Amino acid sequence: MFRCINCGTEVPEFRYACPRCGSALLAVNEGLSWRPEGAGMWRYRSMVPVERRVTMYEGGTPLVRRRDVEEEVFLKVEGNNPTGSFKDRGTSVVMSDAVERGFGAVAVASTGNMGASVAAYSAYANLVAKVFIPADVPDEKVAQVRAYGAELVRVDGGFKEAVRRMREEGERGVYLATTGLNPLFIEGLKTIAFELFEQMGVPDTVIVPTGTGGLLTAIHKGFEELRGLGIIDRAPRMVAAQAAAAAPIVEAWRDRAPLREPKDAESIASAILVKEPYNGLSAISAMDSSGGLGVTVTDDELIDAVRELGKEGIFAEPSAAASLAAYRKLPSHRGRTVLMVTGSGLKDPTAALGGGRCM
Ligand SMILES: [Zn+2]
Repeated sequence: MFRCINCGTEVPEFRYACPRCGSALLAVNEGLSWRPEGAGMWRYRSMVPVERRVTMYEGGTPLVRRRDVEEEVFLKVEGNNPTGSFKDRGTSVVMSDAVERGFGAVAVASTGNMGASVAAYSAYANLVAKVFIPADVPDEKVAQVRAYGAELVRVDGGFKEAVRRMREEGERGVYLATTGLNPLFIEGLKTIAFELFEQMGVPDTVIVPTGTGGLLTAIHKGFEELRGLGIIDRAPRMVAAQAAAAAPIVEAWRDRAPLREPKDAESIASAILVKEPYNGLSAISAMDSSGGLGVTVTDDELIDAVRELGKEGIFAEPSAAASLAAYRKLPSHRGRTVLMVTGSGLKDPTAALGGGRCM
């Protein structure tokens, strides 16, 4: 069963959006059980409502404690996934669903990482992939999509337009893999919570680079499912880190206002530069119910944070360093904190150190 994040409508069958209001759906799972077994993300298959069919050994990523600070700060290094970002967890689940249901073609709208992930898994599963990508996404990321043999469509008009083009494919019977439109994607991402629990227990705070709001929603959902099963008795506070240039979730959370689309957003944080956050409402509700908050970070703060992570031996893309940049701006540091380092710096090496700017 699925439930709308906006109006609460319950939908018995898989759909891409709420039939009443068009908002994103989340899976409401019955019959979950906590029986971790094996390695990687599918160690948690008893907590995931899809059978494993397409896997490239995603998940099982390192949790590294920062050495140069007194506080207990841990880096969850999601760049170690097969295509270099956390997206592979969700992709493994939605591609498994696509194969299970007999689809031969997949479409995705992406700011880069999602497209690369779906392209790779489609190649592996012998499915045709079509990737709609905004025109301003860096060439390095596009190169990765091409390398996996996917059909690439550059779209003027940003992520929203890319989503519109992808939905047209859906009407032609193509499977849609995008976060926020495919509720099963969240079911893969939530395994990060299970992994963190096994690696360190329940952290006090998790800081998440945030674009659509899907990752933050998912990590919160994972911890809440563990709580629902009585495995844990509390969940961490969830902190959203967004680029100051495009921070609709943080602004709506701060102003207690509806989500508003930012204008002409520009930032080196291309992976989280999403003007229309499909999981924004569920992310805000996760921030509120966990006692969390939202923080915005500038490009200069991101470049600093990339260098700081470099000192720990971790090369992060600018968006992935948003968690560290936000951590430095938190009003107080209480307890054990996880910084989600969502993607590898090899994704976008030029931007990672400030691009052509004189540093
Ligand atoms: Zn609805």
